Amino acid sequence: MRTSQLYAPTLREVPAEAEVISHKLMLRAGMIRKAAGGLYTYLPLAWRTIRKIEQIIREEMDAAGGQEIAMPIVQPSELWKETGRWEVYGDEMFRLNDRHGREFCLGPTHEEMVTSIVRDEVRSYKQLPLMLYQIQNKYRDEIRPRFGLMRGREFIMKDLYSFDKDEEGMRISYKKMYDAYTNVFTRCGLTFRPVEADNGAIGGGGSHEFTVLADAGESSIAYCEKCDYAASDEKAELKVIRAAEEEALPLEKAATPGTKTIALVAEYLKVPVEKTIKAVAYQTEKDEVVLAFVRGDHEANEVKILNAVGAIALRMADEAAIRAVGGEPGFMSPIGVRKGTKIVVDSTVMEMVNAVAGANEADAHYINVVPKRDFNAAEPIVADIRLVQAGDPCPHCGAPLKMTRGIEAGQVFMLGTKYSEALHATFLDESGKEKPLVMGCYGIGVGRTMAAAIEQNNDKDGIIWPRAIAPFEVVVVPVNAKVPEQLALAEKIYGELKAAGVDVLLDDRKERAGVKFKDCDLIGYPLRVTVGPKAVEEGQIELHVRKTGETVIEPEASYLVKAQELLKNL
Ligand code: ATP
Ligand code: MG
Repeated sequence: MRTSQLYAPTLREVPAEAEVISHKLMLRAGMIRKAAGGLYTYLPLAWRTIRKIEQIIREEMDAAGGQEIAMPIVQPSELWKETGRWEVYGDEMFRLNDRHGREFCLGPTHEEMVTSIVRDEVRSYKQLPLMLYQIQNKYRDEIRPRFGLMRGREFIMKDLYSFDKDEEGMRISYKKMYDAYTNVFTRCGLTFRPVEADNGAIGGGGSHEFTVLADAGESSIAYCEKCDYAASDEKAELKVIRAAEEEALPLEKAATPGTKTIALVAEYLKVPVEKTIKAVAYQTEKDEVVLAFVRGDHEANEVKILNAVGAIALRMADEAAIRAVGGEPGFMSPIGVRKGTKIVVDSTVMEMVNAVAGANEADAHYINVVPKRDFNAAEPIVADIRLVQAGDPCPHCGAPLKMTRGIEAGQVFMLGTKYSEALHATFLDESGKEKPLVMGCYGIGVGRTMAAAIEQNNDKDGIIWPRAIAPFEVVVVPVNAKVPEQLALAEKIYGELKAAGVDVLLDDRKERAGVKFKDCDLIGYPLRVTVGPKAVEEGQIELHVRKTGETVIEPEASYLVKAQELLKNL
C-alpha cells in the first residue's frame, strides 16, 4: 500500500468532542469518523487493526476448540421472552417490528439464539463439549455512549458459548477460555489483569474480567501486591470490621437541626464519621423501595446490594417513595420504618456499638444505636454491601489492597444451566437421563481492545502501536519523493520488505519530510525506514523505532535483517 492512495484523513486539531486520548488520536489519525452518537465508521487504518485483532482472537478461539459460526443480528422477540430478558433488557435493547408487526431486536448478545440452535440439534452427551463463536456487530442503546469505540451503541464483539454435560466440564471449558483470553491480550501487546468479577444480570457461577490497565478506564479494580488477589470494585469481598469493645448505652433521640449529610451530623454531634450510619435509598425495577445502610465513612456497593435483594436493577429512590415506607430523606435508619420494607445492612454496621443513625423524622438522629439490638425489628438482610477502598484488607491474605483503573476488554462467565433450563435445552447423559446443558459465555470487545491499546501506548506525538496490531508494521519514507533516486530506492526497499512478509506501507507523498514524519508519529507505525540523500549516495539506511525514539543507521546490505530483528521486540 502507498500513502498517496491510502484514505487516512489526518487532522491537525484535536476534535472538541473527544474526551479520552484513544478517541482523540483515532479521530486525528484518520482512523474513525462519527456517524451519530456511539456509531462510527472504521476507515482503512482502523479496519486493518480490527482485522488483526480479530485474527489473533480467531486463532486462539480455534486453538481452544471453538468453531466459528455467524448468527443473525436480527433476533425474534419470542426467544427473549422465553428467558424473560425481553423485559429485563429495557431501554438498552434496540427493538424493531417487521412489516407484519412482529417484534425483533438487534442482538445485544446471543445466549438465547445460540442456545436455541443447540437445543434443536444436540441430543446426546456424545456431542459434547461444544464451543461455538462468532465475531460480529452487537447493538446496545447505551445511556451514555462515549469515549469513541470504548462505549459505542454498535460495536464489534467476539462471543463464544460453551456447552458441557456437567459442571466439571463447564469448568474445563472456562479454564480453556481463560487461558485463550490470556493469550489474546498478551499477543495484542497489552498490559492487563484478569480480575474476579460480578456475574451481573447474566446469572450463573464465577466470572473474570480481563482488564487493560489504563487511567482512562471506567473500571476500578482492587488488587493485592502480596498475593494474587484481584477483583473489580463491584466484586471485591470485604471482611467485617469489628468495633472496639465498649459498653452499650441506652438508645436516645437527639435534635440535630439541618444535618442532612453524614459530615454535618458528625460535626454537630462531635462524633467521628466512623461512628455514624449512612443510608442510601433505592427503588427496584418493580418500584419496591430498598433501604441500604453502611458505615458513615464507607460507600454503598450497588452491585452487592442488587445481589443481596435479588433485584435486576436499582435506581435512586424518589422522596415520595421513601416517605411512603416511613422514611425521612436525610434522616433515615431502619428504626421505625414501615414493616415489610426491604432493609439491607452492611455486616460491619451490625458490629457497631453506640453509633449515630437517623430517627426517620426531620432534624433528629438516634444516638447510642446498637444495630444488633435496635435494628432487628426491621428484619434486615445482613450482607457485605460496601464498596472496597484502598487500604482495605485483602480477603485472601489480609495485606492492604491497592486500587487501580482499567478498561474491561473481555469477560468470561460460568452460566451453569440458567439459559438451558429457561429454553429447555437438554441432552441425554450416559445413563439415558435427560439433563440441561451446562453453559459458559465469553466476550471480547474488539473495538474496545483497539481503543485500550491506544490508551496504554501513546505519547504527545501520537499512537505507539504494539507491532502485532499496528495497521502497518513498517513505513518507508523517502525524505523527498520528488527526487527520483530517493523514490526509486524507497520503492526497492518497500518491495524487499514486502517480499520478506513484512506488513509495509510506502509514504510516496510529495510532501515535506516534516509533514510526513509527523503523520507517521501520529498514526504510530512501529518502525520507520527513512530514505534520504545519505541512503542514495552512501547506502546508509535509517531505521527509526517509534516506541523508543531510537535511530539506527544500517548499510543497505543488512537493513532488512536489522529491521526484522527490531520488529521482534515491538
Ligand atoms: P460494560 O460493563 O463496560 O458495559 P458489559 O459488561 O456490559 O460491559 P459484556 O456483556 O461483558 O459487556 O460484553 C463483552 C465485551 O464487549 C466487554 O468486555 C467489552 O469489551 C465489550 N463491550 C461491551 N459493551 C460495549 C460497548 N458499548 N462498546 C464497545 N464495547 C463494548
Ligand atoms: Mg462485562
